[in-house]
Amino acid sequence: MSGNNYYDAVVIGFGKGGKTIANALGNAGRKVAMIEQSEKMYGGTCINVGCIPTKSLVHSAREASRGCKTGREAYAEAVKKKSVLVEKLRQKNYQKLESSPNVSVIQGKARFLSPHEAEIDSSEGKQTIYGEQFYINTGSSPFIPPIKGIKANPYVYLSETLLDLEELPARLVIIGGGRCSDE
Ligand SMILES: Cc1cc2nc3c(=O)[nH]c(=O)nc-3n(C[C@H](O)[C@H](O)[C@H](O)COP(=O)(O)OP(=O)(O)OC[C@H]3O[C@@H](n4cnc5c(N)ncnc54)[C@H](O)[C@@H]3O)c2cc1C
Repeated sequence: MSGNNYYDAVVIGFGKGGKTIANALGNAGRKVAMIEQSEKMYGGTCINVGCIPTKSLVHSAREASRGCKTGREAYAEAVKKKSVLVEKLRQKNYQKLESSPNVSVIQGKARFLSPHEAEIDSSEGKQTIYGEQFYINTGSSPFIPPIKGIKANPYVYLSETLLDLEELPARLVIIGGGRCSDE
């Protein structure tokens, strides 16, 4: 099989594992398509909505506790700092893969049509691509517990949406609690 829409390897999901394998296969001379459903997720969970932004906020909170800014002011500044950092890392991740001569980054949500065919659905329409091999790196998503009314409630936040809150909430209720591994 050959053609513009044919790839030796199709990687679905631009997370840690996906970008690493796409880069390695591209460097080895394979024609690679990297599929990512969201432009805001180039680089995956860790840099966009996971490890990095949460640690940036923790670091800013520690710094603020030593300074003289009020909670609201310090929080707004911390969110801004976090967003600038995330944007920089996202662009760097995108550029690194996009500049690889053998890798094409395609934005859209993938689904299989057959073992060697995937449909990529984006705001610009649908396209079908063909792959000799597929690597699935679609990560995980937050679990929403079966509590009545939870999905319709605009004040219920997930780990991702909480990071976008620009104003410090006066009160925050946490339902359920895990334990830290070193406790
Ligand atoms: C709040 C939070 C804090 C965390 N902190 C830490 C930490 O401090 N240290 C640590 O080690 N880990 C941390 N983690 C975990 C870490 O972020 C994840 O384990 C890691 O990012 C998973 O990487 P991945 O490549 O498997 O998937 P992801 O990075 O989630 O990548 C999967 C990608 O696939 C895309 N995708 C899904 N379905 C499709 C589809 N059908 N078509 C196209 N694209 C699709 C998604 O949009 C996503 O970008 C944290 C996670 C969270 C949520």
